[in-house]
Amino acid sequence: MDRSASRLGIFGGTFNPVHYGHLRAAEEVREAFGLERVYLVPSARPPHKGEGGLAPAGHRLDMVRRAVRGNPGLYGCSYECRKPGPSYSIETLSWFHRRHPAAELFFIMGWDAWLEIDSWHSCRELFTLANFIVISRSGCQPWLEAGPEELFPFALKDLFCYENRSCYQAGSGKKLYFFAVSRLDVSASRIRREAAAGRSLRYLLPDSVIGYIDSHQLYRGEER
Ligand code: ATP
Repeated sequence: MDRSASRLGIFGGTFNPVHYGHLRAAEEVREAFGLERVYLVPSARPPHKGEGGLAPAGHRLDMVRRAVRGNPGLYGCSYECRKPGPSYSIETLSWFHRRHPAAELFFIMGWDAWLEIDSWHSCRELFTLANFIVISRSGCQPWLEAGPEELFPFALKDLFCYENRSCYQAGSGKKLYFFAVSRLDVSASRIRREAAAGRSLRYLLPDSVIGYIDSHQLYRGEER
């Protein structure tokens, strides 16, 4: 068990497959928030996405680990892949909290995921365990344009106090940050479509992951 007061990032997703959009965002957040490490945590059974077109969790974890090889600041975490049942972030955060009791945790998610967070299991409790960093997806920064009213899903509207346009504080003292990352218009669904059509995947994701997809014949079925 680690008792040092480190700052750790937890970046959840399906990573089906991991790509440069994920990797660059994780790296920029790590640097800007002074995080020692960002854990990329592939969800074995994502409650919010169907399992159609989902590569086995072990393959998605292996691809993440290949993608981050050589960068000590990023790490592929197997927790949700080892755990039976649905992948709930509340359980993942509780596990990190037990494992790193003195660490300050930062949960990283995209703007698209944030807009649905009120449908997540124990969504209000999430903000007692970690700070949250919501990253921009398509380069837009809605928190600069929208009023606070539009920023929060209904179930969370009363949870946060305004600090500034990109930072709010929950009653627990945990912070919610909105943070702009580089605009890399890459998505896993596009990569799966390109792979299914037999087109090049170069420069959308690391060569090591492309090699893995080729050697395991992933995403070769119907286009999704
Ligand atoms: P899919 O296309 O299958 O929906 P995805 O590319 O969105 O997949 P996920 O694994 O679902 O990948 O994403 C994990 C997290 O990373 C989400 O919170 C998502 O918003 C964020 N994300 C994905 N792609 C990018 C990108 N290009 N830039 C910034 N964030 C991204």
